[in-house]
Amino acid sequence: MQKQQRKLVVIGAGSVGATYVYALMQTGLAGEIVLVDIDQKRVEGEVMDLEHGLAFVQPVNIRAGSYSDCADANLVIITAGAKQVPGQSRLELAQRNAEIIESICGQIEKSSPNAVLLMVTNPVDVLTYVAQRRLGWPRRRVIGSGTVLDSARFRLMLSQHCGIDARNVHAYVLGEHGDSEVAAWSMTHIAGISIRDYCSICQGCDSKKTREDITRRVRDSAYHIIDYKGSTYYAIGLAMARISSAILRNEHSILTVSLVLQGEYGIDNVCLSVPCVVGEGGVERIITAPLSKAEQANLEASAKMLRGALDSLRI
Ligand code: NAD
Repeated sequence: MQKQQRKLVVIGAGSVGATYVYALMQTGLAGEIVLVDIDQKRVEGEVMDLEHGLAFVQPVNIRAGSYSDCADANLVIITAGAKQVPGQSRLELAQRNAEIIESICGQIEKSSPNAVLLMVTNPVDVLTYVAQRRLGWPRRRVIGSGTVLDSARFRLMLSQHCGIDARNVHAYVLGEHGDSEVAAWSMTHIAGISIRDYCSICQGCDSKKTREDITRRVRDSAYHIIDYKGSTYYAIGLAMARISSAILRNEHSILTVSLVLQGEYGIDNVCLSVPCVVGEGGVERIITAPLSKAEQANLEASAKMLRGALDSLRI
């Protein structure tokens, strides 16, 4: 796909949507970025602010638009909706945001025959499922940012603990982007060595206690940030830019995006994150990794919890 042809539509020009565009415009990946929001003043203000930086980056057309722009988009990103307030879990947003996502999908469903839809609005796994069912697009083309951000947090915390560049730490968080997420320690590697073997060589810490501490800090990160500054948007903006790059450049990257599972990992008819190969058409392949017994049980518990959240929706 030529850069000039790469058109993105971002629905929701709030903190996350605007920060994402700010991150993406610096990559030179997109030819055209269209922002859509019910708050017309906000969207126009964000467009002007972003446009005023165009003299410093590679050429890209940034403008306010409408749902009809989705028709020839390569990527449609949804960040519209309510955000968590301090003390609120992501799942508590479900009913309100599901209604918003239903109405947005109603406006884009006939267009975008080849686009990939990237859901970011929370609870992202529940809403990815709602969007996939509402749009009826193949599951590989309706994906959620899922635990891509949580996996980055996991890598960062391991990197800080071990004194190793985060880019050399391979680690994945699976399941819900939320309280039931599963840090897959059995899949974690540093310098090609499994973390279990790496720890026995390093012997720098009490590994069980350290693992519990890192797992808890990864899971609870967003609560702390929301408590301190109201919302999170920088790291998710970069995580979205990373997923976009995998799609727009057909990178075949391994990313823990969320999609409807159909029997993989023994889980069916629910959206959650597992390692996926991501390219131009969205998810090209799901990687089925051999998890430990406890991780598998926790992943199934996460799926059950998400199924319960879906069953309780009134839409
Ligand atoms: P925000 O309040 O700053 O922005 C939300 C925007 O959505 C607003 O501009 C609002 O006008 C717009 N909007 C609301 N209803 C709309 C509709 N029907 N059509 C079009 N636009 C509509 O919130 P934010 O901080 O940008 O967060 C957005 C969402 O992203 C929240 O649900 C938040 O929880 C989620 N989020 C997800 C992750 C993740 O990892 N998946 C990380 C951070 C935030």
